[in-house]
Amino acid sequence: MIIRLSLAGMAAAVFATGVSVATPRPSVGRPAMADTLKSIPKPSKSDRDRVEWLERSLAHDSMEGRALASPGEHRAARFLASEMKRIGLKPGGDDKYLQRVPLAMMVPVAPPGGRSGNATFTRGPATVTPPECLPKAPERSPATASDTAASRARVAPPAAGASGRGAATPGSGAAGATGRGGRAGGVGGAPSPVAQAPRARLVTLPSMKDWDTVPKAEQRTAANVIGILPGRDPVLKNEIVVVLSHYDHLNMRTPPTPGADSIFNGADDDAAGTVAVLEIARLLKKAGKPKRTIVFANMTGEEAGMVGTTFWIGHPTFPLSQIVAGLEIEMIGRPDSLAGGPGKAWLTGYERSTMGDMLKQYGIAIVPDRRPEQSFFSRSDNVALARRGIVAHTLSTFNLHADYHRVTDDVDKIDFDHMTAVIHSAAEAVRHLADGPKPAWHPGCDPSQPPPAKL
Ligand SMILES: [Zn+2]
Repeated sequence: MIIRLSLAGMAAAVFATGVSVATPRPSVGRPAMADTLKSIPKPSKSDRDRVEWLERSLAHDSMEGRALASPGEHRAARFLASEMKRIGLKPGGDDKYLQRVPLAMMVPVAPPGGRSGNATFTRGPATVTPPECLPKAPERSPATASDTAASRARVAPPAAGASGRGAATPGSGAAGATGRGGRAGGVGGAPSPVAQAPRARLVTLPSMKDWDTVPKAEQRTAANVIGILPGRDPVLKNEIVVVLSHYDHLNMRTPPTPGADSIFNGADDDAAGTVAVLEIARLLKKAGKPKRTIVFANMTGEEAGMVGTTFWIGHPTFPLSQIVAGLEIEMIGRPDSLAGGPGKAWLTGYERSTMGDMLKQYGIAIVPDRRPEQSFFSRSDNVALARRGIVAHTLSTFNLHADYHRVTDDVDKIDFDHMTAVIHSAAEAVRHLADGPKPAWHPGCDPSQPPPAKL
């Protein structure tokens, strides 16, 4: 989950943007056919133990906070790929299960006036979504676009042609740069009163070919980890349900604080969702063959500005037009009383589409997001898909705990019974998305479309 403060720029862009490739979708799918996936058995002790083992592995200190392009994140990627292989998913990346994301550590150019702004995510022109689909948010600053342009201008391209489409991202990782939007002073720390010198930043390159042109010392890589459960219906197998999470987190304190925990393990954010993606894949693989194809994606660099998902959308491993639904799983490690407590979850942007009500109809323990003022719909990778017109939401049980984005987001705070129950619900949800009718945006609530003209 991305911090809200970092979204001053994002807030305007969230409901945006860019070149939309969305086409209107029918509001119902083909006539209902019998589901081909069997329903998921109630969780057993061994399901729970497996959830705990996966969670402890991903949130382990050896993963070093899983920062974008760091050795710890690479270790996590290899772990996820090996689990996908073990489950029996088909590889969905360009390097088996890995989709390599080319990055460069760039040296910023000092801006005139000395302010060291954060390089930010590239955005297209903003559109406005009608108020009935929006959480009640304060007025947005119109300064975002120029701030972004100014920030981008401060980043020197490493080679001609390499920076055109790259999302300049607040990076972290190998060089220890921990620029997190709007936050000076390092990850999780108090804002530093000392003016900061311009820092090196990770920038996404358009392709691996561009990456080859970058000096070796500046080359970095990260990877999305993608596995596929192919559909079996002759027609519907060409439709895709994407189940995603982000497995990156916030690095380590450098230098470490003596005698104190210095690793941002991100047990809840979002090791928990990443474990869920693996478990949903495993449970569905055992349940038979889905009608639609299901793509399981553990994304990199969400905390650094949805780097992995943005790259994937720019370099999809199949036409985006085939995706009929997206479900992200974020921060399900602790129960949320506003969702109904243990085993219950909420869906971001519930009121925007038919997905939530559809899933509820199937008996899945899911409610609308009770904290619309937090803009959760726009704080996870799902929104990158939604901006392309794909019905995509995030399932979460984040209860605004105080360990959010702190070194104390540790595995000892995870409620494994709750998490296992939510994973069971999420697997049932994906089963219905894969075999049942397609969800659709409610009229006027598709973030990729301009709002209807005012009467
Ligand atoms: Zn987060």
